[in-house]
Amino acid sequence: MRIPIIAGNWKMHKTIKEAVEFVENIKDRVKGTDVEVVLCTPYTLLQSVKEATKGTNIKIAAQNMHWEENGAFTGEVSPLMLNEIGVDYCVIGHSERRQYFNETDETVNKKVHTALKYGIKPIICVGETLEQRENGETNTFVKSQVVKAFKDIESKKVLDIVIAYEPIWAIGTGKTATSEEANEVIYQIREVIKELYGEDIYTEIRIQYGGSVKPNNIEEIMNQEDIDGALVGGASLKSDDFVELVNF
Ligand code: PGA
Repeated sequence: MRIPIIAGNWKMHKTIKEAVEFVENIKDRVKGTDVEVVLCTPYTLLQSVKEATKGTNIKIAAQNMHWEENGAFTGEVSPLMLNEIGVDYCVIGHSERRQYFNETDETVNKKVHTALKYGIKPIICVGETLEQRENGETNTFVKSQVVKAFKDIESKKVLDIVIAYEPIWAIGTGKTATSEEANEVIYQIREVIKELYGEDIYTEIRIQYGGSVKPNNIEEIMNQEDIDGALVGGASLKSDDFVELVNF
């Protein structure tokens, strides 16, 4: 039984005050849910959101981290620091970081290794560009991203990882992959995990879809057999929308 995971990715939005108000607003309205609820916040909000979510079923995530524990890396934040705050998850390899901040499959893999070392569960993002989709390269490309992200990850750690399939052309554009298209790629990703780690793990690993998920399409997406949740940007910023997503 895979427990679905709905994660709001706030990207570079919200002040501390807004974030705490958001949590106050949703906490009683998401508590009866069967899904895992996660808020992925900017670094500056993690401590306050951690405190505000104490005693609730809401988990917190960073949106990025460095792969070293500490060192001369001006402007970076390490998994050791995230662990101290009690961060549950960390988004790793979001396409915006791959596109604007030189994230590569190699740095993604390094980050996955150290996140796991510090008990932080990675949400690894993969997904193709529009050009790759139009050229029929989606499955090959996404497959290679997954294989590289999981390089040398021991099987006993694999179920602490969540994969988010986010086609780049569907992020923030209002265009979603049809739920069947999303399910098809996610099925292929599950097959990669089967090749790498075998039958038991492949049926249990959770794979989310992300890209223009909204209250009006969440149900259809979640009804797909291989989709275990959503990573939601824009529609996670308003508390009412987020509550609807969680209680889809
Ligand atoms: P979106 O973003 O829901 O605004 O498309 C998704 C994401 O980037 O994780």
